[in-house]
Amino acid sequence: MQALQLVAPGTIEVRDVPVPAIAPDEVLVRVAGAGLCHSDLHILHTPDWPALNVTLGHETAGHVAALGANVSGFAEGDPVLVYLVWACGVCRQCVAGRDNVCATTGGRLGLPPGPGLGPDGGMAEYIKVNQRFLEPLGDLDPVRAAPLADAGLTSMHAINGARHRLDPGATAVVIGVGGLGHVGLQILAATTGARLIAVDTSEQKLEIARGHGADLVIKTDADTAQRILDETSGYGADAVFDFVGVQPTVDLATQVIAPDGALRLVGLGGGGFPYRADAATAPLPWGVDVRRPYAGTRSDQRQVIDLAKQGKVSVDVTTYPLADGPRAFADLEAGTVPGRAVLVP
Ligand SMILES: [Zn+2]
Ligand SMILES: [Zn+2]
Repeated sequence: MQALQLVAPGTIEVRDVPVPAIAPDEVLVRVAGAGLCHSDLHILHTPDWPALNVTLGHETAGHVAALGANVSGFAEGDPVLVYLVWACGVCRQCVAGRDNVCATTGGRLGLPPGPGLGPDGGMAEYIKVNQRFLEPLGDLDPVRAAPLADAGLTSMHAINGARHRLDPGATAVVIGVGGLGHVGLQILAATTGARLIAVDTSEQKLEIARGHGADLVIKTDADTAQRILDETSGYGADAVFDFVGVQPTVDLATQVIAPDGALRLVGLGGGGFPYRADAATAPLPWGVDVRRPYAGTRSDQRQVIDLAKQGKVSVDVTTYPLADGPRAFADLEAGTVPGRAVLVP
């Protein structure tokens, strides 16, 4: 079968590899769509990324093609989503519903394994998955649903962790209307009473934001922070979701967060800000809580699938044939993909 693999740091290639053999508790999934994420670019450009000759793709959906001897509850042809967090399921964190920070498989500073991040991922004709990590998709189209495994999951988790600041009357700022941001806006619109401000550098992406529930869109310029402060009577936004994480967006986020605000740094663009435990800690107002959320819990995953089934969340996808995967990577890097790029084998 064809698979898009990381063959060396900085180099991806669509190769011929064997169809994976499944263990008794595994399911072979015929991939319908595999989303392409900024993390894939991060993996591509990490000089010492440890998992070479691994199939990329951590946003995968498809149809059950074969069942291991011990698998129950699935039948051939079922549409399924592959959950990103391959946690142990039995440690104290997992049983408390925090499987995204599994103590056994992730530990204090690591991550639980996930497809395309160690084990082979979904940018291939087939993927093998332990049955524990499959979510039924019902009537959802697996090509359009694939990004729910990360763009949907991660934005759902970031928002669920900020609900105490998203009451009616609140203002939420979404920075970056890309794969995650355009889904995050829809989740916020569907599940909160907050006023939504979307910020992006691209007029095209702001148009997408308008269509997905933003009450106000702002094209980034030197006055963006002041504009948001003016919109909130100088007090700032109750919640800020930075889905980009580069220095200018982190600067903006810290300049507009309100006292007691929920500052969520989701994008991994490498930006930062100084913090000191003193009375004059610029740039943060008092009471701000900062979080670097990772992926999401199984419950977050179910919730965003349910929102999609209700038609309240839909991913804008731009499809590429799997063989054109390298072109999709280049387009994502150039920032020209509207919504989410999805590779279709
Ligand atoms: Zn990702
Ligand atoms: Zn665990």
